[in-house]
Amino acid sequence: MLRRWFSNLPLRWRLALWYALFIGVALLLFGGYQYFQLRHSLFASANTTLEIAASQALNSIDSENGLPAFQNTEFLGITQQHLGQEDFVIRLLADDGTLLDSLGAASAAPEFPLKEGFATYGRKDESWQVYTISIQTPDGRIVGWLQTAESLFQTDEILDHALTQLLLGLPLMLLFAIAGGVFLAHRALRPIDQMTHMAQEISANDLSRRIAYVGPDDEIGRLAQTFDRMLDRLQTAFEQQRRFSGDAAHELRTPLTALKGQIEVTLGRVRNPEEYQSVLHNLLSQVDRLIRLSNALLFLSRSDQQRLVWKPENLNLTELLEIIVEQIMPLASEHKLQISTSLPEALPVYGEKDHLVRLFLNLLDNAVKYTPRGGEIRLNALPSETGGVQVQIYNSGAGIPPEQLPHIFERFYRVDADRSSQTGGSGLGLAIAREIVLLHGGQIHAESQPGQGVTFTIDLPGGSR
Ligand code: ADP
Repeated sequence: MLRRWFSNLPLRWRLALWYALFIGVALLLFGGYQYFQLRHSLFASANTTLEIAASQALNSIDSENGLPAFQNTEFLGITQQHLGQEDFVIRLLADDGTLLDSLGAASAAPEFPLKEGFATYGRKDESWQVYTISIQTPDGRIVGWLQTAESLFQTDEILDHALTQLLLGLPLMLLFAIAGGVFLAHRALRPIDQMTHMAQEISANDLSRRIAYVGPDDEIGRLAQTFDRMLDRLQTAFEQQRRFSGDAAHELRTPLTALKGQIEVTLGRVRNPEEYQSVLHNLLSQVDRLIRLSNALLFLSRSDQQRLVWKPENLNLTELLEIIVEQIMPLASEHKLQISTSLPEALPVYGEKDHLVRLFLNLLDNAVKYTPRGGEIRLNALPSETGGVQVQIYNSGAGIPPEQLPHIFERFYRVDADRSSQTGGSGLGLAIAREIVLLHGGQIHAESQPGQGVTFTIDLPGGSR
């Protein structure tokens, strides 16, 4: 119940209460210690006085008619001073407790039990500290008792006063601690409040706002920076996503509009079977292109959601590459391209076969597409220094301009010169290639010199896992 109530309080109040609790306990311990220290020293001082008075009184005792009595009542120093006051008494008693003689405030003090040593007697508002010693003959027979006693009235007053101060002061100090705690917590949490306020105002449509916290590089400062960096990433991701959907819609619409146009024109008048056949062939190739495009989009969307199939196995990359080259060969011969390969016998990699086939098919397909007639393609693969494999795919041709090179792996990005050409690409092939390489924990990059062709280098981690 209390726990629930406490955990529902605002953080600043919880901090302030914890703070007050610790200060309260510390004050209580310290105050209690001081109180008992004071009490102890007051009693110790009273006991010393009683002891000195007793020893002086003992010296002045003489036996009169066989009974002890004070002979000389002139004491020295503090004992004499005390005897002049209402709260001090020295008594001489017979062995059965009959009062024989007394000095000081005899009537004010009550009778005290005869028990050797120091003791405190009396009620709360009238107590006495008493020192009792027995008077003995040389053979050890008790002939009487000497008692020195001091009223504890003053001591009690001092202790009561100290206690009152403690009990009054403690709540006051606690209140002060709570107020201080709230103030400190409020000050410390103010930037967090500001951040919360700011974060509430930021919506998905306006991710450009930042907290831009101006303050020291402490916990709060670092939180604000982290928050801003997270917004940076969110903004980039949102923008990419938005661009991706826009581009995808555009890419799908263009061929669909073309298809519609062709169908409409064909239906404009009656045609002979050969004409229908040729139009249908044409439509089929465009539908194929649309299927390829939607497959590519599906792949990327699955990759974004980290839902790509991932059942890796130990593979021999050489075998895989040889099959892919075989597949690409007819198209290459069609373009009069020369393909040379340099592959070791075995090249173990650990990966998902379908994805790796898609990766190298995309790259070799590009090489065939972008190499001018009569050009050459070279495929080299070898174990890398880091225990993995490195594959290089080179093709001759104009190459990729340096300012466009950093963008070619972006989705829908196509080098200007190829945009209007009839290569049939949509700008997703390299984006997919990069996703596959990253999925395998590898790296891909491209190098190109104007007029010198392009080299793609792929590093993949080694096999046997
Ligand atoms: P596309 O579907 O247009 O081929 P990619 O993502 O595969 O899309 O490639 C992006 C762009 O990079 C291409 O438009 C092309 O300009 C350039 N490119 C890719 N591969 C090569 C290559 N082997 N040689 C020259 N340019 C290439």
